[in-house]
Amino acid sequence: MVRLRSRLARSQNVIGRGLLELLSRDRLDDEVWDEIEETLITADVGVAPTRAMVENLRTKVKVLGTRTEEELRALLREELLAQVGPDLDRTLRTEPTGERPAVVLIVGVNGTGKTTTAGKLARALVGDGKKVLLGAADTFRAAAADQLQTWGERVGAAVVRGPEGADPASVAFDAVAKGIADKVDTVIVDTAGRLHTKVGLMDELGKIKRVIEKKAQVDEVLLVLDATTGQNGMRQAQVFAEVVDVTGIVLTKLDGTAKGGIVISVQRELGVPVKLVGLGEGPDDLAPFDPKLFVDAIVG
Ligand code: GDP
Repeated sequence: MVRLRSRLARSQNVIGRGLLELLSRDRLDDEVWDEIEETLITADVGVAPTRAMVENLRTKVKVLGTRTEEELRALLREELLAQVGPDLDRTLRTEPTGERPAVVLIVGVNGTGKTTTAGKLARALVGDGKKVLLGAADTFRAAAADQLQTWGERVGAAVVRGPEGADPASVAFDAVAKGIADKVDTVIVDTAGRLHTKVGLMDELGKIKRVIEKKAQVDEVLLVLDATTGQNGMRQAQVFAEVVDVTGIVLTKLDGTAKGGIVISVQRELGVPVKLVGLGEGPDDLAPFDPKLFVDAIVG
């Protein structure tokens, strides 16, 4: 996929080209293996997956003896794919059940790309012929609701918002109630990402979820994580994963980073599959996460 390749160019340079160059060296001594390990760690692959990859690569390269570039490429693809989890269930549940729309809750720290993701997801669903409603449950910043409103107008989705400072749960409830009344297919609820205290966050997200569940079930809780923030972002994401049952991860800003390996570490740390990736700021820059296409784009 040409587009994915160009958007992942930075990861491709560091992980793909970097590792191929190292693996092609005449003498693969400990120093080179250390460099390979360092490259993977720098790309945010995570310590345990890096160790596993290096060990497997070492064994397989030894068995190969002399190596062609194509053989090395295939090896690298195989090892990366195994770590990315080719068999995880990444289905996005956005289909209505009976009279009830599907409800997708978007959670995560502010600035990670929640509102943008809500807008892009709405756009993709509208493009598939679905009727979509956006709920602006981030009531703490008027700008957030304005931003969602703009996305709604841009992509053709209705927006439900409350006055600034309104109870986020009541806006979420109103959005779902309107979604049911208007027979929409999918309601996407954007939430505030205030990481004030863990208990506060738990109360807020828990209440939003409980209130929605008076009307419909929450089908997806998507945790948005900014790929450029590395381990720091991961720790914050972990807090969200502890307070709410996350069903999928959206990894944003993969276009701007060489740390594409974060796909591997985040799934491992949070035990939740990456379902969507953000590849830019435009309305079409959201893609379902496909492990094989991802690895192909990185290894070339
Ligand atoms: P929120 O506070 O979590 O709702 O974050 P926003 O949706 O406002 O996004 C914060 C910034 O990140 C905005 O400037 C977005 O355009 C930008 N952004 C979001 N997703 C992506 C992405 O996948 N790639 C890039 N390059 N920028 C993104």
